[in-house]
Amino acid sequence: MPTFSKGLLMVMLFAQSIHQADEFRKCLDKYVRQRGNEEIMKVYNTLSKKKEDFVPIEEGKVRMYVCGPTVYNLIHIGNARPMIVFDTVRRYMEHKGYEVNFVSNFTDVDDKIIKKANEEGTDASTISERYIEECKKDMEGLHVKPATTHPQATREIDGMIEMIQTLIDKGHAYAAPDGTVYFKTRSFPGYGKLSHKNLDDLRSGERSLLVSGEEQKEDPLDFVLWKPKKEGEPFWESPWCEGRPGWHIECSVMSKKYLGEEIDIHAGGEDLIFPHHENEIAQSEAANGKPFAKYWMHNGFLNIDNKKMSKSLGNFFTVRDISEKYDLQVLRFFMLSAHYRSPLNFSAELMEAAKNGLERIVTCVSNLSFLIKNAGDGAMSDEERAKVKEAAEFADKFDEAMDDDFNTADAISAIFELVKFANTCAAEGSSRAFLQALKEEIVALTDICGLEVEKKQELLDEEIEALIQERQEARKTKNFARADEIRDTLLGRGIVLEDTREGVKWKKA
Ligand code: AMP
Ligand code: ZN
Repeated sequence: MPTFSKGLLMVMLFAQSIHQADEFRKCLDKYVRQRGNEEIMKVYNTLSKKKEDFVPIEEGKVRMYVCGPTVYNLIHIGNARPMIVFDTVRRYMEHKGYEVNFVSNFTDVDDKIIKKANEEGTDASTISERYIEECKKDMEGLHVKPATTHPQATREIDGMIEMIQTLIDKGHAYAAPDGTVYFKTRSFPGYGKLSHKNLDDLRSGERSLLVSGEEQKEDPLDFVLWKPKKEGEPFWESPWCEGRPGWHIECSVMSKKYLGEEIDIHAGGEDLIFPHHENEIAQSEAANGKPFAKYWMHNGFLNIDNKKMSKSLGNFFTVRDISEKYDLQVLRFFMLSAHYRSPLNFSAELMEAAKNGLERIVTCVSNLSFLIKNAGDGAMSDEERAKVKEAAEFADKFDEAMDDDFNTADAISAIFELVKFANTCAAEGSSRAFLQALKEEIVALTDICGLEVEKKQELLDEEIEALIQERQEARKTKNFARADEIRDTLLGRGIVLEDTREGVKWKKA
């Protein structure tokens, strides 16, 4: 429920006294309605180390950037964690009514990609294009929605050169004699604000930062924006030398191009806090003269035997490995059963538990579907109506958990409670409307989690014809919403409608 500040109440009383009460009440009603279904979300911000109220820069819109994978191999399930959790954040925000512009990049030029290309005797773009396609297949299996834009570093080189030049012009970067361009870390006063490190701490580690070949740096803390080409590497022309960009600059540039200079959320795994995200802040804020991202979100590690899963340690399973044993939505369910900021240990037992948990929901929905098919058309009884209200409380619980920094673990518990409730109160004598309401509630909540719990059954020809007939009638009575809904339902079952002069024809897609 919304709460009113003292100030708002004073204004209300004042308005009443000047005969504008009716007008004012109308505005107030609108305000109550808006606040009623728009409880403020709390988001943990790595920048402030606190949960903060989520207030977007532009009302009703969210601009969000998630650092994507370096594409030189099949993605492992550690890489899948940020994909799944931030896709769920996106879905929940959309459920709250926000329009989310979601950008996630592919890093398609990097030492590891070049090494793999050389091993295979091919070029870097062949490797990156292959693994972008493979990554997209894995995302589809995990029900990760495609981003609004998936930019690729190698297609944004001009923008990177432009930003690097701006940084040089503003005194935040310099070119060394061999053409390497460095960011002058000490020129940016806010350096360290995300990782909560100060320059003095970093200075004590200076020795280790000074690796051979980097003696030309003015300061050991400076980092690379552009580097000269080496034999057998892809390169681009630039004002400083033929070469390629450093890793950090790509995200600053792509975020600016596709989302603007100031964005709401920037996200990734917690290993990216330092130096990647710290460097992105320095580059973007120094170049644009504006704050970069309002909220910084980071997922915890997916571990194996309490060690971070990573390609370099060799302790990983690819998403493809898992898909041989499980439906990939079991992996999604497993990931969401923990809070996104907590470390999560991968084990065969936990995957089995996730499989069973998901199965419980699927079975409940399929029982409801069976009962619905055979239920009578009678109206909902008073008792059933009261139960539907009770069921809605589980949805409130779900929202409450998600509003609290996307606590998917508690949100899933709320789904289980709803399933238990549905299992106890749905019976053969229940009305169809009641059963449908229970089912819709479960499907709506699982949908926000990106889980498909309703088994798609093949429609019989008569069922298709009946739905087409209903759609025609809905159109006649100008009920276009229902007509569109029927078309979408059919499309979801692989049935495409074609409006022809002779009438509506359908075919299987
Ligand atoms: P990379 O391809 O290494 O740049 O990683 C792509 C994304 O996956 C980044 O957001 C990383 O932080 C994240 N990531 C990599 N390994 C793990 C892991 N074991 N657990 C969670 N996130 C990870
Ligand atoms: Zn990035």
